[in-house]
Amino acid sequence: MKTLDQIAAELAGYDPQALSADTVNAFLAKLVEPVTEVQQVGVFQALGRVLAADLISPISVPPHDNSAMDGYAFDGSQLTPDQALHLNVVGTALAGKAWTGTVGRGECLKIMTGAVMPPGLDTVVPQEFVTLALGGAGQTGNDPATPATITMPAGVVRPGDNRRLLGEDLMQGQPALQKGELLSPAALGLVASLGLQTVPVLRRVKVAYFSTGNEILSLGEPPRDGAVYDSNRYTVFGLLTRLGCEVIDLGVVRDEPAALQAAFEQAALQADAIITSGGVSVGEADYTKAMMKQLGDVAFWRIAMRPGRPMAVGQISRAKLTARPDMANTGGTERDAASRGSAILFGLPGNPVAVMVTFLAFVRPALRQMMGCNAVAPPLLRARSQEVIRKKPGRTEYQRGVVSTAPDGTLQVKTTGNQGSGVLSSMVQANGLIVLPHAQGNVAVGDAVEVMMFDGVI
Ligand code: AMP
Ligand code: MG
Repeated sequence: MKTLDQIAAELAGYDPQALSADTVNAFLAKLVEPVTEVQQVGVFQALGRVLAADLISPISVPPHDNSAMDGYAFDGSQLTPDQALHLNVVGTALAGKAWTGTVGRGECLKIMTGAVMPPGLDTVVPQEFVTLALGGAGQTGNDPATPATITMPAGVVRPGDNRRLLGEDLMQGQPALQKGELLSPAALGLVASLGLQTVPVLRRVKVAYFSTGNEILSLGEPPRDGAVYDSNRYTVFGLLTRLGCEVIDLGVVRDEPAALQAAFEQAALQADAIITSGGVSVGEADYTKAMMKQLGDVAFWRIAMRPGRPMAVGQISRAKLTARPDMANTGGTERDAASRGSAILFGLPGNPVAVMVTFLAFVRPALRQMMGCNAVAPPLLRARSQEVIRKKPGRTEYQRGVVSTAPDGTLQVKTTGNQGSGVLSSMVQANGLIVLPHAQGNVAVGDAVEVMMFDGVI
């Protein structure tokens, strides 16, 4: 486990008083280690979990060539560029009920979607392209008493059309899913299509969180002068839950050394990561920063960003805590996390929008890395700005935006207006964050900007 100073020394241009957003992410990528404990879970339980090993396909999917259409299967070498083809219908193949007879030249088989293609047949003409004539030399197969022929005009199919090949989805012996894959609904279906009843996944990351500040009221407390209700615990809870973390809610912690120490210690013993909000800005009168410093290896940053700016990052050693006689008996569910050397601390700013933005920009990718995910950051969309956005070069700005489809079908985005870092209502209104990178200056109407969409993220 590296110290923060060691990591800082590896990063060019590390200045804790003026960090770029990219440097923060680079720092966290070096700090965070993925969980390693593996659990075998059923397919329904695997949603949102991270695959612990490559999943090798035990079978091919589909297991045989089959028809992609309802129509007539035949040997495509009989097709010519300019002549209609007449074929006698010799039988019917249904999905789940293969045709066992032979189909020669001048013959075809009525076939349903998903039915096995008999050997020698490689092409299916959809039924809507043919004219069916009853009473010919062949038969439909549904009714052996009724002979039938089909006629298809030239050019409606090419040899090989409408046939799904054995293994075209997944080939036996090949990796169907990679280690580190976050299991989506599609991935669950894919696992099931292989006939697998369970999959190996990494254990969930445990995150403890609490809010700090003497002006912060818990729900249920009567309002009082100068106090505000705690919203950060609820947004952090939602963000963590969407991410698939196990959450440990430690409430609102009073600004007293003993209460803060107890909260940090409990969090560090139980969780892989700790998220606090409030009390990390310069000139804070409270004890939060002092307690972080006392208990852990912690750096206090000023990040060149808006909103956000102050943030503390660190690690609190569990080994030190468990060595203490009063802490010796922490076990049970805490054992997994306690097998890791230390808990990572994210001390987020207090302002409600700054909490969400710093979470999305830094904590989310770091936690994804801890979860063992391959994809840590969501891809950004490009949209045209519908308005002038004032922006100073030299800091990354995250503006709440509403992305919509322009009349010409392209994506456009406007801001939600008031970008104050306490204005949570505009975070609700927005469907994404416009990310204006470090070097970017003002944005003109029509300029392309990048947007981190909320859908699927928060
Ligand atoms: P701080 O970073 O502690 O200086 O807090 C900055 C601002 O965020 C102050 O106006 C706080 O009242 C507000 N704030 C801090 N924590 C919370 C919270 N948990 N819920 C709502 N607002 C908060
Ligand atoms: Mg405060």
